[in-house]
Amino acid sequence: MTEELFREDATLRQCRARVVAVDGSGVQLDRTVFYPLGGGQAGDTGVLRTGSGADVRIVDTRKGAQPGEIVHLCAPDADLSLLAVGTEVTAEIDWQRRHRHMRFHTATHLLCALVPHPVDGCSITADYARLDFHMIEPLDKETLTQGLARLVAGGHAVSHRWISETELDANPQLVRSMSVQPPRGHGRVRVMEVDGVDLQPCGGTHVSNTAEIGPVVVTKIEKKSAKTRRVVLGFAEPAEG
Ligand SMILES: [Zn+2]
Repeated sequence: MTEELFREDATLRQCRARVVAVDGSGVQLDRTVFYPLGGGQAGDTGVLRTGSGADVRIVDTRKGAQPGEIVHLCAPDADLSLLAVGTEVTAEIDWQRRHRHMRFHTATHLLCALVPHPVDGCSITADYARLDFHMIEPLDKETLTQGLARLVAGGHAVSHRWISETELDANPQLVRSMSVQPPRGHGRVRVMEVDGVDLQPCGGTHVSNTAEIGPVVVTKIEKKSAKTRRVVLGFAEPAEG
């Protein structure tokens, strides 16, 4: 089990950690700030700093084969001899990239509030976010962009809390996603609340206030299938270097 520091505090950029496993597939730590690909959100990249002054570049983060495992995928040229089991490292994420994931992820929850239909696909990257809604009605790009602008400007607080599985079962309408079911078997489920706007199970990393999302626009609406409408979001400002 890796302690998932990002679940309680998405603003952590680095942490001290100890290597607990290393093999051809990657490195596992006792604790981490690296978010593993999941719930549509891309895995983090960054570096593991060893005491020797040498860094090992992390190119992606994935869930491991066993529940609770998080695998940091090393760059192909990484010197894994730097990361023997027991080695202390500083694990540091690429914050510029992750912060874009957080802004987009919170924006997708705002979109869920604007489009009251089940979600059957989701992808959140540093460059765009897309949500597939199970619906047949047409959607209007301009109306959605304006709706997002209003919710961003509204400065709604964003926070998480844990509820019991029993509480979730009593409120099945909370689950918006058809494609991603909340993880079961831990007795509790993490829910994200955008104050007054949206409440749903989610394990992702988010900004703490909708104002932090900044200018976001609907760049494309596609009819992906007879019963699916895909909405693609982008940031209004140019991508940073
Ligand atoms: Zn989410």
